[in-house]
Parts: sequence; structure tokens; C-alpha cells
Amino acid sequence: MGAPLLSTDFFDLDSLYAEEELLARDEIRRWARERFTPIVEDAHRDGRFPLEIALELADLGAFGANLEGYGCAGLSNSAYGLMMDELEYADSGLRSFVSVQGALCMYPIFAYGSDEQKERWLPKMSAGEIIGCFGLTEPDHGSDPGGLVTRAEDKGDHFLLNGAKMWITNGGIAHIAIVWAKLDGQIHGFVVPTDSEGFSAPEQRRKWSLRCSVTSELVLQDVKIPKDHLLPKAQGLKAALGCLTQARYGIAFGAVGAARCCYDTARDYALSRIQFDKPIASFQLVQTKLANMFTEITKAQLLCYHLGLLKDAGKADFAHVSMAKRNNVGRALEIARTARDMLGANGITDEYPIGRHMCNLETVNTYEGTYDIHGLILGERITGIQAYS
Ligand SMILES: Cc1cc2nc3c(=O)[nH]c(=O)nc-3n(C[C@H](O)[C@H](O)[C@H](O)COP(=O)(O)OP(=O)(O)OC[C@H]3O[C@@H](n4cnc5c(N)ncnc54)[C@H](O)[C@@H]3O)c2cc1C
Repeated sequence: MGAPLLSTDFFDLDSLYAEEELLARDEIRRWARERFTPIVEDAHRDGRFPLEIALELADLGAFGANLEGYGCAGLSNSAYGLMMDELEYADSGLRSFVSVQGALCMYPIFAYGSDEQKERWLPKMSAGEIIGCFGLTEPDHGSDPGGLVTRAEDKGDHFLLNGAKMWITNGGIAHIAIVWAKLDGQIHGFVVPTDSEGFSAPEQRRKWSLRCSVTSELVLQDVKIPKDHLLPKAQGLKAALGCLTQARYGIAFGAVGAARCCYDTARDYALSRIQFDKPIASFQLVQTKLANMFTEITKAQLLCYHLGLLKDAGKADFAHVSMAKRNNVGRALEIARTARDMLGANGITDEYPIGRHMCNLETVNTYEGTYDIHGLILGERITGIQAYS
């Protein structure tokens, strides 16, 4: 009998990543396991995000880690991806907090903002002093964000915003919201301070999933926004989708982390749980389940590795990201469900992280484009025919 294989780096990808990339990942791994893992089950049970860790994440360079300047770490896209993998090994809510801050709030200011806007907001966001949220989804417009009805009116010396957003991560804890609204019929991005008169963010509670994450509605009732809060280059749905591509890239890596955590837990359990006088890991059905999980994790890691190279070379487009997000989250969800089964009754308790990951991955499979919508994005790339509208 050989020793159990303990590493999920079966194809030795560590030998391909740069030392700096592995260092960034290892720092996050150490922090997440020392600081976050011990508190996550209570936070999840209480339905609370432990905001007090935001400054520690900032010290680790987690916010906008792949952006240059403004106090950001300026790391490669691969390093950033590996950091997301480690954060989501701990919890999808933790990774979502960092993804929203970096990819959905800092990125639009970085990519579509004026120099003055970047100087004003980005250094404080990378330092964790300003927290952001991203409001695109509306009660009646989820997969079809182009239909959004939140509107902005030009009132001469200011804009007036009216509308409602739904399912907004970090909504209730954010200082600023990137709000997508129609001005003269065209979608634009606005930076809305959340202490503006007429703005409120009631929390959406009673969730089975992503409980260690704040999810809110955004209500905008005659919210006055200074003219210089319009992001000058964020015009059209394409700009909003550009942010989603950044975030989905991180999700593709993050899902591998959640899957690895479920796999590690199920493997350890199978080796120690005795039934019929043997560890359940000695039964063929259990071994093939582990083999399937391990294979899917390895395939997802390979997809991420190459996607990181493409992104660093400026060659990754949204369809590459759709494939990776769709595949990796879909497989992670299957792995979580299989792992849950392998733990028997113990799989439904929060003594083990699997049930939490499984519920979280239901959200991750839905947000930022559902599994099916990404299938249709790929379908359009393959056939040239748009099937989703
Ligand atoms: C916890 C959580 C956090 C979130 N955070 C944010 C956030 O920070 N910011 C933000 O803007 N949004 C956020 N979202 C919203 C998320 O992006 C949307 O839920 C998602 O885009 C799907 O929209 P929907 O829920 O309205 O579902 P719908 O669009 O109503 O879809 C319902 C079902 O119909 C299917 N469907 C829809 N259209 C088609 C079609 N053309 N062909 C085939 N099937 C179709 C979908 O695949 C899905 O299965 C969050 C959601 C959750 C649950």
C-alpha cells in the first residue's frame, strides 16, 4: 500500500508558476488558515461577514492585486488568481468580498475613470479604507442586464439617480457603489457615495448560501450625484461586462479552492472512517469518486494556469473566461455534492466545511452569469448564432 497522495498539485504546476506568484499565494494561504478558517463557521452560522479583517487583507495586498499603481500590489494575473483560489478554499464569501472590491469596484475606476477619480478613490480602496460594491442586477433584470431600468437624469450641475438594485454583494457595508444606470437611454457607470441622501441598502437575509457575505438591495430615490462621479469611459453595457470578465477570471480560480477544500476533507474522512472493518477509502466506489474529483480539480487547475498566461499576454477574451468560470464552478459544485455524500450524516453538519461550500457554490454557479448563460456565450462563439435573446 502506497502513502496517500496529499497534494492536489498532481501535474506539478508549482514548478511552472514564478516564485513571486507562489509567495503571494502562500502568504494568503497562511493568513486564511490562521485567521479566517477558525472564525468562518460561526460567521456563516450567524449570517455575518467579519468586516474587521478588511485591513488585514489590505496589508496582504489582496485588493486589486493585479492592478498597477495607487498602492496596488501590481502582481501578475496568475498570482492574483492563485490568491483567489486560496481565499475560496476558506470560503466563497471571503473571495467574493475581495473580488467585488478589486475586480468590480477598483477595476472600473481604474479602467474607465479619470485621473482625478483614480487618485481620489483607488489608494484608499487598496488600503481597505473605502469598501465598494457593484450594482448591476435589478429585481427584473438579472441574466439580461441590458434591460436595466435604473435611470440618471442630467440636472445641469448634478445627476439625479432613481432605481433599485438587487443581490448586491457588500451593499450594506460599502462606502461607494458603482451603479449602472441609463442616461438618455445609454448605460453608464456612476460612483455613488452610499451616504448620499436618498440612498439605502437594506440587507437581504434568510440566505442558504454565501451567508458569510453581505448581500443587499440598493434603493436610489432622487439621489443627487456630482457631475464628476460619472465614470467617463464607462459607456454602454460592454463597460459593465468588462468588469464582470475581470471578476469571473478570479471566480474560475476561486472555484478550484472550494473544490480542493471539499476534496481534501472527503479524502481525509474516507481514510479514517471505518465501516465493515475497513476505512471506507478502501472500497472501489469511494476510490473512483476520489479519482473523479481529483481529475476534475487537476483539469480546472490546468485551465486556470493557461488562462493566466493568456491574460498576462493580453490574449484572454471573455469567452475564454466564460469557459473557465462555467467549467470550474460547475465541477466544483459536483465535487462538493459528492464530498457531502462521502461524509454520510457528518456531511450535513458544520463540523466539516463541505455543506457550507456546497451551498456557497450554488450562488457562485448563478452569479456573474449563470452556468447556462456561459454555455450560451460559448455557443455563440462556436456557431456564430446568439441563442440567449
Ligand atoms: C449571493 C449573490 C450575490 C450577488 N452579487 C451581485 C453583485 O454584487 N452585483 C450584481 O450586480 N449582481 C449580483 N448578484 C446577482 C447575480 O449576478 C444574478 O443573480 C445572476 O446574474 C442571475 O440573474 P437572476 O438571479 O435574475 O436569474 P434569471 O436571469 O432570472 O435566471 C433564472 C434562470 O433562467 C435562466 N435563463 C435566463 N435567461 C436565459 C436564456 N436566455 N436562456 C436560457 N436560460 C436562461 C438562467 O440560467 C437561470 O437558470 C448576486 C447574486 C447572488 C445570489
